[in-house]
Amino acid sequence: MTVHRSPVQSFLESLHARFASVRDGEVAAYIPELAKTDPDLFGICLATADGYLYEAGDSRHLFTVQSISKPFVYGLALDDNGVKHMLTKTGVEPSGDAFNAISLHRVTGRPFNPMINAGAIATTGQVRADSLQHRVARILEMFGRYTGHPMRVDPAVYDSENRTGHRNRAIGHLLRNFDILDAEPTAIVDAYFQQCAIAVHCADLALMGATLANQGVNPVTGVRAIEDTHVENVLSVMASCGMYDFSGGWIYNVGMPAKSGVSGGVLAVLPGQFGIGVFSPRVDEHGNSVRALKVCEEVSRAWELHQFNPPYCPTSSRRLSYSCAERSSSRIRHPGELACVRDHGSRVRVFEIQGNLAFATTESIVRDVIAGSGEQRSVILDFHHVTTVNGAAARLLADLAAELERRGTATFFTHTPRLPSLRPQVAAQWTDAAAVERLFRFPSTDLAMEWCEDDLLETLPRPVPSRLDDLRTFEIAAGLTSEEIEVLAQLLDRQRYSPGEFIIRRDDEATNLFLVMSGVVGVWLGEPGTGSRVASFSVGTMVGELAFLDGARRSAHVVAECDVECSLFDVDDFLRLQESHPRIHATILRNLAVSLATKLRKVNRDVSILSTQRG
Ligand code: GLU
Repeated sequence: MTVHRSPVQSFLESLHARFASVRDGEVAAYIPELAKTDPDLFGICLATADGYLYEAGDSRHLFTVQSISKPFVYGLALDDNGVKHMLTKTGVEPSGDAFNAISLHRVTGRPFNPMINAGAIATTGQVRADSLQHRVARILEMFGRYTGHPMRVDPAVYDSENRTGHRNRAIGHLLRNFDILDAEPTAIVDAYFQQCAIAVHCADLALMGATLANQGVNPVTGVRAIEDTHVENVLSVMASCGMYDFSGGWIYNVGMPAKSGVSGGVLAVLPGQFGIGVFSPRVDEHGNSVRALKVCEEVSRAWELHQFNPPYCPTSSRRLSYSCAERSSSRIRHPGELACVRDHGSRVRVFEIQGNLAFATTESIVRDVIAGSGEQRSVILDFHHVTTVNGAAARLLADLAAELERRGTATFFTHTPRLPSLRPQVAAQWTDAAAVERLFRFPSTDLAMEWCEDDLLETLPRPVPSRLDDLRTFEIAAGLTSEEIEVLAQLLDRQRYSPGEFIIRRDDEATNLFLVMSGVVGVWLGEPGTGSRVASFSVGTMVGELAFLDGARRSAHVVAECDVECSLFDVDDFLRLQESHPRIHATILRNLAVSLATKLRKVNRDVSILSTQRG
């Protein structure tokens, strides 16, 4: 059997093979236990934002997370305290000092950022906890949300740093002196040592990165690890301060937020796309893993991932756009009305939009809509294929709808239930609750189109009266003489239906053809109200001709949508006409065929709009 290898997997393996021979750098030894690490270990893992893992080399070898813990604990402290409070405890400026520098702002005593030890210890102190154990347990639990499994502290590395970490203890006391730490520093520094000694492997790091790339939700478990609003804060400090005193060079070359640790790990995040974890213990003079740096540089260069040069995505968020002249609703109308809709329907326009709506994708839609809105009586924005709408997009759309309303263009947002935040966001922009109600009035585009067509017809000289007694105007009677119409009229029975009443039930035997004299009837697959309403018929049309022609049982329910009056034509009477009045029979048969042909033509036109505009 041939195993097809993903080119992504092959590329990571080729990088692993290429850089395995690099032996520059030294294993960090200032924490004695770290010095024992095998310097040749080398692992790579890339986790996509939808949770797929590519791995090469020692990607499951455990090592201690060290400084890579810092942005994640910062995220936890942000979730606990909010941004405003955290900015009083640590700044967000690159310091230009070594990671373990005893440098605090001269006046405030505030550390420069949460990625240097001073800022990280201050941050650990802000994790809500009532004891050392509680603090460590909460940190471990937070890491577990990112990795999807329980986490533990490596006791040997923790012990080693705890015995030798006097410098960090000094920083802790300095922070206490400036009231940046508001509790006894020893226990907080102890918690910091434990957080640095949490055991991870490259797959953990990659998934932690993928979770940040996925707006804070672990893509494998679906568990939220951090509030989505804090993801950008965490990634920002990683981007500006994450790679020690090489942070500027890193963002210049690689262009992704990242964090490294002295044990040889690097975690980089491509927001919205993936996380990558690389481990190789030899670090350079800045404290960054030499091989990990090379891997990340190559990945960024080969796949063109620099964040400040994002790919232009030409895919339009406009999926389809058509007017009712090109594609009318599924309302079956009298031929005269249908002609009117065709002639004037360009004043009703539908925009089917798709994908993730953010500023750029929404701006192009807004531009399209505004450009044509001068001639438009109504505009329908169909959200059926939209996956997400962010706050900026919702505001733009709300402003667009308000502008259209001001211009007197009836505007409808349809198929919105899968975007629950859209309506409240629009409502937050508008003071007029009734206008919001109007905007979201129609669940489906088809219902909105029907309303817009009816509304348009109101403005035109009526081609058919709203109540039709004269058989001559019906499509079934086309080509019949007055005498023949008289014969037909004698065969018809009048019947009234109240709103909601069944006219036809699915699976019934087909005994009659229905001529709609007044009102509108709806055709439902499934139960009326809950199933899907596939068409409706208004005055002057005939319903039920399919089963009338081929004798099959009824395939759908037909229900009165208001007070409806129909004339019923019994199938046996129709068949008897073949003997008694063959010309009437033949003419009606022809009219039935014309009616079916008209419907088929509409379907063909709809399909051609879909296939020419798509792809
Ligand atoms: N636990 C280490 C320290 O505080 C972490 C250093 C690092 O990875 O940058 O010294």
